Formats: sequence, C-alpha cells, structure tokens
Amino acid sequence: MQAAPASHAPPALSALAAHGQVALFLDFDGTLVDLAARPDAITPAVDLCARLEALCVRLGGACALVSGRSIADIERHIGHIDVPIAGSHGADIRGPAGTRLGTGPVTLPAAIESELRAFAKVEGIDYEHKPHGGALHYRSRPQSRAKTHSFAKALAAKHGWTTQSGKCVVELVAGHANKGSAVEILMGEEKFAGARPIFLGDDLTDEAGFAVCQGQGGLGILVGPKRDTHAQYRLDSVACVHNWLEF
Ligand SMILES: [Mg+2]
Repeated sequence: MQAAPASHAPPALSALAAHGQVALFLDFDGTLVDLAARPDAITPAVDLCARLEALCVRLGGACALVSGRSIADIERHIGHIDVPIAGSHGADIRGPAGTRLGTGPVTLPAAIESELRAFAKVEGIDYEHKPHGGALHYRSRPQSRAKTHSFAKALAAKHGWTTQSGKCVVELVAGHANKGSAVEILMGEEKFAGARPIFLGDDLTDEAGFAVCQGQGGLGILVGPKRDTHAQYRLDSVACVHNWLEF
C-alpha cells in the first residue's frame, strides 16, 4: 500500500478486541516511554512493567514489545518482564514460553566498531555499543545529521552491513532482521496465531512492523506528529498510547 499521512485516532482497544482476538506489538522508545536526550536518560513510568504484564494477560498472551534496544537493555530500565520481547530490531526474540526465537544478534566486528567510535569522537556525537551492532546518536549535535548518515551508509556498504535510521540516530546492523520479521516470527507462535496484529510505533524502523501487520489483516498506529506512513491510524503522544492501552 502507498504510504500516506495517518491522521485519525484508532478505535478503542476494547472495541477492536470485541471483534475477535487481537495481538499487540509495541515499540518502546517514543511509544511507551518518552524520548530523552540520550538513550540511558529515559524515565519509564514506575508501574510500566506491571501494566504491560496485565495487558498481556488481558490479551491472552498475544502482546509483545518490539524494540531497537536489546532485551537486557529494556529490562535494565523496567525490570524483568513476563511479556514476549523482540529486541535488537527483531534479531533477538524471547517468545511466550521464554524460549529464544530468531537467529540471534550478530556482533559488529571490532574494526567497524573502532571506525564508528573514532567518527563519533571527532564529530562530538555519542556512540552506543549494542549486542547487534553500533549506533551513532546526534541528538546533542543535530548539525551532524547529514555527515553522520553518509559516513554510516558508506561504512556499512564497505563491510556488507546495513543501516537503520531513527530519530537522531543511525545504526549499523547485520540486516537479517527487522521489526516486520519479528512480527512474522511471533505470529507463528500459538498464543498469537489467528489474532489480528496491531503495531504501535513512532519511528521509521516501525514501518516494517506496520506493513507486516497490514499484510496479515491487521493495522498500524503511528505515535507522534502526522507524516507519511504505512500506519492507518495515529496517536499524538506516549500519554495517548497509555490511555489507548487503558493503563
Ligand atoms: Mg520508537
């Protein structure tokens, strides 16, 4: 489907669920938690973990977090959570029974990582090591945007890796997984099978999730300002998402 601006608020979750089982896929940063100046500076609601676990029970287990953060990083911020998680952009998935699904994250070779670190140092931006790659964050120095993206793209192309772009961040990743493939894998699990998939997310990497949900008869919900997207609906903010989830 052609990308177009999403402008309408979605029907209430309880109304959607009244028509049959739904499966919720929830991005983390910018969707469940407000963005901060640096990835480590986020302040999740203190009861976020408990509310997500209750939501997952309410949906019969058909609920998952889908994030560019690693699973360990998410749990460092909200504690251990008894909800399926696709971390590292879908490269590392902990399924409903706690079993690992997917191929697992691929670590960035040291030579590439040292080039990213050196660039970040010279450019005065932040480098973040991840289990599945490395990220350059330029939120503190937005004028570095174009230079950072072209450097990351050239470096990725040189070494056979790929880039994922987000809000004030570009990451080098192995390219074998994304948020859409995470949805496909989880929809193959018993608790999700046959449900109508719904993906909530705020960033460009969430578009793959929106598209897969739509392809399976579900829908996408963009969080944040209006923009071209594959999502059919939109919610203004993290607070609106919490309301919509009936937190
Ligand atoms: Mg996000």
